[in-house]
Amino acid sequence: MSKVINFFNIQNEYFVCKICTKKLRKPKDTSHSGITYHLKSTHPNEYEEIQKRKTLMKKEKGQQSIQSTFQPFLEDSAEAIFRSISQWMGVDTGPCLAIEQGIL
Ligand SMILES: [Zn+2]
Repeated sequence: MSKVINFFNIQNEYFVCKICTKKLRKPKDTSHSGITYHLKSTHPNEYEEIQKRKTLMKKEKGQQSIQSTFQPFLEDSAEAIFRSISQWMGVDTGPCLAIEQGIL
């Protein structure tokens, strides 16, 4: 549970806090600022927990950002793409081949 909304049940026009059962009217723009404020001001420990998890998730996503960093380079030429793929394949299949040879 890493989102503010997970601390609330939805009942018709209201968000109902699971911790203190306080009802908060749903905003028309479906923003979560109201419930975020409630959690932050009334249940700071739970709110802090969410913030911690967010930071953790950002760290995990760090690996994915490598791809976007290299995206302009990959689009530069077809040759670059081929080179990158063959490098990736070489790295990826290397250990597998070693294992197969070991078994044989
Ligand atoms: Zn509450």
